Amino acid sequence: MFCHKCGTQNEEIARFCRACGRQLKNDSFVNNPYKKVVLVNCGRNKLNVIKEIRMLTGAGLAEAKNLSEHTPSTLTENITEAEAMQIKNTFEAIGATIEIR
Ligand SMILES: [Zn+2]
Repeated sequence: MFCHKCGTQNEEIARFCRACGRQLKNDSFVNNPYKKVVLVNCGRNKLNVIKEIRMLTGAGLAEAKNLSEHTPSTLTENITEAEAMQIKNTFEAIGATIEIR
C-alpha cells in the first residue's frame, strides 16, 4: 500500500513504510478512494510547473498559467490514490508543493 507521507509503494501486508517508517493505514482510502490533486505552491520553477499542468490536464497555456497563479488550485480529481501519488511525485520533483485531498 502507499505511504501517505512519502509515496513509497509498500507490500500490501506491510504495516510500516519501508522508506520512512511511518505506520501505514488505509482508513482514508477505504472511506474515500477518490482523490484530488491540489497545487499549493509552484516553487522556484513556475514555467516547468505550467508545462507539467499542461501535460497532465491538456489545458492551454492561459488556463495552466491561471491554475499556477491562483493556488491552491485543483489540478485533477476523482482519481485513485496511486494516480494522485504519481502526479504528486512528478510535481514535487520540479519543486512544486502538492496536496492530495
Ligand atoms: Zn513512507
